[in-house]
Amino acid sequence: MWIVGSIAFGAIVGSFLNVCIYRIPKGESIILPGSHCPHCQRSIPFYDNIPLVSYLLLRAKCRYCQGPISLQYPLVEGVTALSSFLLFSRFGISWSYLFYFSFLASLIVITVIDLFHQIIPDVISLPGIGVGLIASFILPQLTFLNSLIGVLLGGGSLFLVATFYQWLFKREGMGGGDVKLLAMIGAFLGWKAVILTILLGSLIGSIIGMIVMMLKGKDLKYAIPFGPFLSLGAALSLFYGETIITLYLNLNR
Ligand SMILES: [Zn+2]
Repeated sequence: MWIVGSIAFGAIVGSFLNVCIYRIPKGESIILPGSHCPHCQRSIPFYDNIPLVSYLLLRAKCRYCQGPISLQYPLVEGVTALSSFLLFSRFGISWSYLFYFSFLASLIVITVIDLFHQIIPDVISLPGIGVGLIASFILPQLTFLNSLIGVLLGGGSLFLVATFYQWLFKREGMGGGDVKLLAMIGAFLGWKAVILTILLGSLIGSIIGMIVMMLKGKDLKYAIPFGPFLSLGAALSLFYGETIITLYLNLNR
């Protein structure tokens, strides 16, 4: 029952995240007006706006104009539902669930916006730093000092990551948005996770980068945003950070 509830709640939040992803880069309100089809502008009735379900029932087409519904919608809803379920399985209904779910939801919005627009909106990352610092007073596993050092290290790691990225892709890739994102990650997860996030994000980024280079040929002339890899690294740090660090230390014994 709770499992179904956590998945359904995640999917509903995911549906709202899709609205944020669509409207934040345009500077539109995320509350009003209600959802409407981007092709024919008709408003979408509630029975066509059920997360995951409506996409399948409508076969990825608008009921009125048959315009295509992007795969992004069910993907975001699905990933948000999965995040909710995984966090609920670990923390149950608790402050940890609430804070980490809002953290992962922010990362999902940042990832998709960065993929499509190559920007990381300050309206998400800056308040995120504040919420992470507040969380350190409530979450038993995070001290304020750890959170604060995480912010400073995340914000100060520009040089470290910029150098690595430049060496890897032979061009400048780090923007101020990535730095603020890392500061937010540090606020929620602490300073160790910032280092792990940079390592994992760079590792995954370089693997994906090489695959793209092989598929597209030659060098990476077009931008591969770094935010999605940092977000993925942060999510892995949240769920498997302890395991990864323990494994690493055992390997080096
Ligand atoms: Zn339409």
